[in-house]
Parts: sequence; structure tokens; C-alpha cells
Amino acid sequence: HATKRTMTDHLRRLETLFTLTPQRMRMITQSFRETLENGLEKVDQVVPMIPTFVFGWPSGQEQGDYLAIDLGGTNLRVCLVHLQGKGKFEVTQSKYRLSEEQKQDEGQKLFDFCAESLKTFIDSNSGEDGILHLEPGEKLPLGFTFSYPCKQNSIDHGILIRWTKGFGAPNTEGENVAEMFQKSLDKFELPVTLTALINDTTGTLIASHYVNPHTRIACIFGTGCNAAYMEHVKDIPKIKDLGIDGGMDMVINCEWGAFDSFEHEHLPRSKYDISIDESSNKPGEQAFEKLISGRYLGEILRLVICELIDDGILFLGQNTYKVEVTNALDTALLSLMESDPTEELLMIIGIFSHFFALETTLAERQFLRAIARLIGRRAARLSACGIGAIVGKMGYLENGCAVGCDGSLYNKYPGFAGRIQEGLVDIFGEKARNIYTHHCRRWIWPMTKARKDAGIHAHL
Ligand code: ADP
Repeated sequence: HATKRTMTDHLRRLETLFTLTPQRMRMITQSFRETLENGLEKVDQVVPMIPTFVFGWPSGQEQGDYLAIDLGGTNLRVCLVHLQGKGKFEVTQSKYRLSEEQKQDEGQKLFDFCAESLKTFIDSNSGEDGILHLEPGEKLPLGFTFSYPCKQNSIDHGILIRWTKGFGAPNTEGENVAEMFQKSLDKFELPVTLTALINDTTGTLIASHYVNPHTRIACIFGTGCNAAYMEHVKDIPKIKDLGIDGGMDMVINCEWGAFDSFEHEHLPRSKYDISIDESSNKPGEQAFEKLISGRYLGEILRLVICELIDDGILFLGQNTYKVEVTNALDTALLSLMESDPTEELLMIIGIFSHFFALETTLAERQFLRAIARLIGRRAARLSACGIGAIVGKMGYLENGCAVGCDGSLYNKYPGFAGRIQEGLVDIFGEKARNIYTHHCRRWIWPMTKARKDAGIHAHL
């Protein structure tokens, strides 16, 4: 009984630590909005609000074949997108996993790996039965979805501001990554023309609108966390000297994962969050992302578990070394724990015995699931604050809008979308039911190429 009571005490403490009240959420949303506005007004802000030079929405009628390569935080994806018009499309995709070493290796080598994977994809899809039929000398348009903050002054150019999501490849920050990638493409003599460098949120925004014209905002919840939305050029004071027609609209890549970095004034950070931040390769940075995204949620739970092992609350008398290894608990396991349908929590028995060689009591399993819930719910509610900031700024509450989302956390974490919705209602009241998220794949940067062909892109 003593153990159980203590576990209950801990649960109460953790509930207080990880729960966001509606009032707190409204405060965060307000300061988030001010931060976004500040980033539109001035250059080089912590949340940089990056102009993407992608103007206006797709018509839904775009057509053609396009190659896309997407360097995410965990995977490298190569896809061939076949746009059919009328909001329809087909995608053929291959996925290649990135190792932790590759993320820290020389930058040029990383791009060589991208080019090599692209070569594998092209080779394996060419030939008689393949989907690719290239004439000698023909080149396919290629878009590079590069999901790290870049300073752009045209669609096919981008200076990496800083790595995020655990990347640290040297000799890349401050460089034009489009040029670096082009070098790798030349090295492998690939039959492609690099036509666009685009952030995954921008891709998701345009793709989501192609399939659902109510879309106004896009978010990624994967290894990292970020958002993009369509802004009026006249409301981006920091680019007024470029002389772009104020009546146009341009996609802004918020890079909102950086919200509250360094100053740590607005977000509720627990000691577990602080510990993750301090032992990360970029302490102080990406403060918002570190509370939300797939790279970190499993680690938050793991740190709670380790603390309770040290306090003699969990896994008494067992050898716990396996769970004490940094990053040993993937966020995917939180998803599994939350979705366990059995009363005995058999899934959680399986996870802890398989991955960590630990036996669990039912009370421990219920406790672990409750903590997973707190962490997952906090991530979704904080995400709602970010969406709420854009919704409030753009005045989308009245008529409602759709928010296109992609990333494993959104797609696979049970209840994530519902918790965002619930969070929006806590911020805005019942009116927020007009704002709904929907899943959309992030591939469609090629749309930008289709539109560039139609002369829609500005090059500065
Ligand atoms: P990327 O960010 O590389 O584009 P993903 O969107 O697949 O790719 O996100 C990968 C992240 O999602 C990883 O941090 C991983 O821990 C997390 N993840 C993978 N599977 C799941 C799952 N089933 N539930 C929750 N998170 C997951």
C-alpha cells in the first residue's frame, strides 16, 4: 500500500506539472501572436517568420510529373508526384533512414547521401516496367524539401540559418544548401534540374490547399514542429523595400519551434524539459519544439521513469540499465502505450519486457500510461496555442478554416488531433469548432514548379 500511495502522490505532482489550464493557454497564445508579429516586422528575430517567395494558392488544376526529395529529421524520402488536376494526385515514394552519425557528419557528405538515394530511386523506377521513362538528355524537375530554417531570396536558393532537430553537420550553417546539393547532384550525374528549395511546412500548406481549398495554415508534427501560413505581403513590413505588390499573398514559414528560446519566459518548462534542453546539441534553442515534437516526447517520459527508479518507486529489485540509456524510449512507444485497449495493459507489459527487460505490475502500467497521457496532451495543447496565434492574427475564427497537418506524431499518436481541437476550444470557446485539422502529405512542393512554369514565381 505504501508504494501505491507514493505513486499516487507522484501522479498528482506530475499532473500539476504537465497540465495547461485554459487561462494559461490564452496567455501563451497572446504572447505567441506578439512574437509572430514581431518576426514579420523585424529581421533576424528568434522566431524568424521567413518569407518563402511562394505566392498565392494553387488552383487545384496543376498537372504533371515531378520529383521531390525530402530531408526530414529522421527519414529521407524520395518521391515521384503525378499531379492529375482537380485536386487529385498519385505519389510513388521510397524512404531511407538517416543515422545519428550522418546527421553530424560533414555537410557535403549528407547531400551526397541524398543524391545517392535519389540515384537509387531513379534507377530502380526506370526501365521497361518502371514508372519513369526518360528520353536521352531529358531532365526531370526536382524539388528539395529541406526542413531547416533557411534565409531565401528566391525559390531555388537558401542559406541555412541553423540546424535543428538534432542535426549538426559541420560546414553547412551559413552556406547556400541548394548549391551544396547541386554539387552532389552533379557528382552523381543525375538527370534532374533542381528547381525549388522549400520547407516541409510550405509544401504541406500548398498540398493541403490543393486537396482542400479551406486550408489556411499547415503544421508539421514529426521529429520537429513547425508551421506555415499565407500572409498578405502588405502585412510583412520587413520586406517592404523589395517592392513586391502589397496586394499579393506569400507563404510565411514561421519556424515557430524557436518560440520562447533563450529567454524562457512564456512556456511551462518542467525540470525534465530543462534537462533535455541542457543535454541537447543546441541548448537554449527550439524551446517550443522541445516540448512538442517526436524527437523529445519519449525522452521526457524516460526521464520521469528514471527519476522514479532512483526514488525507489518503479521496478523495485530489477535491473533497469536498459531504460537508463539516453533516448532509449521512442515517442512511438508512447503512442502504443496510450492505445493499449486491454484492461490488463498487455501492450505495456510487452513494451517494457521487450525493450527494457522489465516486469511491470498493473499499478505501474496504469501509472506509466497516465504519464504518457500527460506528456502527449501537453504537446497537443501547446500546439493549439501556436495554431491559435495564427488564427487570431489572421481573423480566421469567424468563418473557420482548415489546418493541414503531417508528421508521424500527428498521423500516428492516438487522439493528437482531438486534443488540438479541445485545446482550441479552451482558448477560443465553441467558435473554435470551425477550425479543424486534417492530414495531408507534405510532398507537394512540385506544385510550386508547376506554377513557376506558369510564371507565378517571383525571383529576386
Ligand atoms: P520526419 O520528421 O523525419 O519528416 P516523421 O514525421 O516520421 O519524420 O517523424 C519522425 C518522428 O516521429 C520521430 O521522432 C519518431 O520518434 C516519431 N514517431 C514515429 N512513429 C511514431 C508513432 N507511432 N507515434 C508517435 N510518434 C512517432
